[in-house]
Amino acid sequence: MDAEQLRERAHKMVDFIADYYKNIEDFPVLSQVEPGYLRNLLPESAPHNPESLQSVLDDVQKKIFPGVTHWQSPNYFAYYPSNSSIAGFLGEMLSAAFNVIGFSWVTSPAATELEMIVLDWLAKLLKLPDDFLSSGKGGGVIQGTASEAVLVVLLAARDRALRRFGKDYLKKLVVYASDQTHSALQKACQIGGIHPENCRWLKADISTNYALSPNVLSEELSRDTARGLIPFFLCATVGTTSSTAVDPLPELGSIAKRHEMWFHVDAAYAGSACVCPEYRQYIDGVEEADSFNMNLHKWFLTNFDCSVLWVKDRHALIRSLSTNPEYLKNKASEAELVVDYKDWQIPLGRRFRSLKVWLVLRLYGTENLQKYIRNHIRLAERFEALVREDPRLLHQGFSL
Ligand code: PLP
Repeated sequence: MDAEQLRERAHKMVDFIADYYKNIEDFPVLSQVEPGYLRNLLPESAPHNPESLQSVLDDVQKKIFPGVTHWQSPNYFAYYPSNSSIAGFLGEMLSAAFNVIGFSWVTSPAATELEMIVLDWLAKLLKLPDDFLSSGKGGGVIQGTASEAVLVVLLAARDRALRRFGKDYLKKLVVYASDQTHSALQKACQIGGIHPENCRWLKADISTNYALSPNVLSEELSRDTARGLIPFFLCATVGTTSSTAVDPLPELGSIAKRHEMWFHVDAAYAGSACVCPEYRQYIDGVEEADSFNMNLHKWFLTNFDCSVLWVKDRHALIRSLSTNPEYLKNKASEAELVVDYKDWQIPLGRRFRSLKVWLVLRLYGTENLQKYIRNHIRLAERFEALVREDPRLLHQGFSL
């Protein structure tokens, strides 16, 4: 890496990106291209000789921009928010600069230790129970996505149950969640070998505002236990994908406890709001959870990807996901003095993602992050009022 060449080219790239953001509203938000458009525009094979950065940027402008859907446009309203920010962007730059692969503490101590610290900071900001802090038996970890988060905790819960009942009982293990739960859980069940007939997607409807009813859950549990099945995993959602429904955590948590199920809370999208004291009530009951997850890359100004997961018992994760080959052994790990995040996730390699969280927290401060959330909610309320007032929508039988 030639530092001066980097300086010159990176400045040029930053200018290019800043201009992109300056003009982002000029683009149609949704890309207008047809499938396969790019193959006709690019050569059949990679260039033999080096090309200039300018020629690449020209191609980005002419050939890539048309195929981009502009998630960062202020006019983008699809799926869910995915707000980038200057702090998040700078954190990504720094992470790319170090380019460490921090799977074990020894591979880059700061990568592990900063992750532990910022996740403790966030846990305190969310007023999560102390059991989720790294000072006890639990702790936080950055996953790429909520899908990976639910997968790793499902595997930990499955293995915990199999240790208790015996390996032959996999076919009897049952998962519970509402039918509004994100399909990430279904995927986790598929990967985790949970029998499809043992996945209970319990009906949630308008009568409970699309939240999972504790009564519906209890009835299903009675039926299943009477048949000799073993409930082992309950997933509640705070802010479902289709309607931002909030499952009643305190009631579900106590049912989970009675049945000795792992209780996971998926707050992928809405969790960020709980950094404001007035919205923290939506995760009341998280005290009962074994794991809690939210995506900072959705609504917390942290560039993709950054999904934060806390567990109360990190050893449950480690028992399921740890491997210890000769080539990864080192003194700090052997002495059990350190956290090795490779044992808390599916891949071995991992990026220095805590840098961007650290920058977001430091450059904005919690007060401004709360203001930002409050402003979005104020805008949503304004939108709701406009919808309610609009006779065209009411005539369509639209109800809120
Ligand atoms: N859970 C909820 C409630 C979501 O809204 C989403 C994304 O829309 C997910 C899980 C999956 O998120 P990811 O893409 O991080 O796996």
